[in-house]
Amino acid sequence: MKSVIIGTAGHIDHGKTTLVKALTGIDADRLEEEKRRGITIDLGFAHLELKAASGEKLRLGFVDVPGHERFVRNMLAGVGGIDLVLLVVAADESIKPQTREHFEICRLLSIPRGIVVITKADLVDEDMLNVAKMEIEEFVRGSFLDAAQSPMVEVSALNGAGLEKLKQEIVRLVAEIPVRSTEAFFRLPMDRVFVMKGFGTVVTGTLIAGKVGKEEEIEILPQRRRARVRGVQVHGSSAEQAIAGQRTALNLAGVEVEDMARGMTLTNPGVLEPTLRLHVQLSLLKSAKPLKDRSRVHLHAFTSETIAEVVLLEENPLKPGATALAELRTSEPVLLLPGDRAILRQFSPVVTIGGVVVLDAFPLHRQKKEARVSFLRGIANGSRQEMLLARIARRESGGLSLAEAIRETGLRPSVLQADSKALAQQKKIVLLGDLMVSAESFTKARERISKTLDAFHKANPLVRGMSKEELRTKAGLRPEVLEELLAHLVREKKAEATGELVRLAGRGVELKDDEAKAKNQIENAFASAGLKVPTMKEVLAKLPVDKDRAHKLITLLLRDRILIKLTDDLVFHQTALQELRRIMTEYKTRSAKIDVPTFKELTGISRKYAIPLLEYLDNQRVTRRVGDERVIL
Ligand code: GDP
Ligand code: MG
Repeated sequence: MKSVIIGTAGHIDHGKTTLVKALTGIDADRLEEEKRRGITIDLGFAHLELKAASGEKLRLGFVDVPGHERFVRNMLAGVGGIDLVLLVVAADESIKPQTREHFEICRLLSIPRGIVVITKADLVDEDMLNVAKMEIEEFVRGSFLDAAQSPMVEVSALNGAGLEKLKQEIVRLVAEIPVRSTEAFFRLPMDRVFVMKGFGTVVTGTLIAGKVGKEEEIEILPQRRRARVRGVQVHGSSAEQAIAGQRTALNLAGVEVEDMARGMTLTNPGVLEPTLRLHVQLSLLKSAKPLKDRSRVHLHAFTSETIAEVVLLEENPLKPGATALAELRTSEPVLLLPGDRAILRQFSPVVTIGGVVVLDAFPLHRQKKEARVSFLRGIANGSRQEMLLARIARRESGGLSLAEAIRETGLRPSVLQADSKALAQQKKIVLLGDLMVSAESFTKARERISKTLDAFHKANPLVRGMSKEELRTKAGLRPEVLEELLAHLVREKKAEATGELVRLAGRGVELKDDEAKAKNQIENAFASAGLKVPTMKEVLAKLPVDKDRAHKLITLLLRDRILIKLTDDLVFHQTALQELRRIMTEYKTRSAKIDVPTFKELTGISRKYAIPLLEYLDNQRVTRRVGDERVIL
């Protein structure tokens, strides 16, 4: 069984609603006012089952749209998601303004297939009919409705002429329509909501992606309201589930009708996110005025409608008939995904001026314009895998997580995982759990890490290594990327990691056990001696390590300012010098000056040590030499 959505299009009073009724037996004009005035105001719906030549059952859902120019916005709410359009042209009137506008809208939305239906054939003679045909052929030339590829059928709803032929053509075209994939999360743009006695809230729409079944939890965007599907109806009869391409009605539990309105989208909970910024390929109609940067427009996307500001990313102003990249900044959040199409109407007066294809619904915030444009050009024509690769690459060493990939594409995890696996096998990306990093960025990040570590070692020649956290911040990487890069470097013996410390192989100082012991011994020897320090020679003689290593340890202690060197063979522990300062400060309360003998007495040290120590204090501006005495500062 195949389900397809067929939409009508065309000028008011050309016979759209009558045609739908002639085909399905259903009057799509359901409102009181529509019946009274005899015109279609809002969308109408009908359905029909036909048999394909193969015997397959074809379920056709019809969306009948209003033709009046005042109700084009209602037409726009219905036309998104249709597979086949019946462009209705009355034989007695031929092409009229909304024939043009609806036709342009169908082209901008890239509706893949259509049939031109010339209605009211009974009202004209053969000559008139031929003139109308010629006019219409000329009108659709070069488009998806070109007579070379698209049928044109004349009918009369009055006497039934041509209706069988039309059904045959519908069956033929429907067979060509590919079955819609259900690779994406489900999206149901709501076109109606009402209360059904005994059931409660019912919403309807054309299921444009995925599938939804009974008892599922759903989310309503952009409001983020949750509800449960109590029942599903497809083309008017109960079903277990609805799939992409079906007219769908859902009976919902957990929401009130008052909270729901046309334009909202139902989807799987907690997966997709609405956006306020879209990058698109914008096509301006030939009939439009040149479009200036920062123009405000009405954006019609599926059943939603909002105001958007157009930021032109290429030429400014955009010439009529031209296509270029642009950013849309919407005044309300919209749920759109790459590949979706939408219509732009002029702010005022409200006429259709163009359409957009969404390329990216989650633009990166800080990205250079050239990088942005080349990214967008790349994904405009890429395969699904190429597009994923471009999305991964633009994140550079930050990588793209699976959740982000889902949000950006609307695709199911299984589909994305298969693609990312394939890309990893082709060595185009590196897969780190759920994080995807392009091979190029990964290599660059590796170089960055090596460089950062190298610079660290140069600046700190006597430190064991750099802390991972510091390295991560300096290199600007996600923890999982850093870990993986380090694992690579360690495996290749280019780096070493112990606990939280990382260093390049052969760099940084590593103390062995005996060295650590020796270091303590040196420190203690000086610390316990106070100002009566031993000579370096005496200390070194007692150490359990060789001269070279002892020298390294002394350098470490001096670098860390644990030991302080006054002359080549006079080294103090920093605590001893602190104590000296304290003694001097205390002495100052007794006398403002001090001479060398007093200093020797006060500190209990020999002249040999006293002079360098006083010079040290001068240097530190604790004392100032005046003749043979020192003034304590
Ligand atoms: P819509 O605005 O395009 O939906 O047009 P309607 O279906 O409401 O039809 C407008 C008027 O044209 C109605 O009065 C119909 O009865 C009439 N009409 C529709 N189809 C035919 C037809 O094939 N032959 C004739 N003679 N009248 C038709
Ligand atoms: Mg109508």
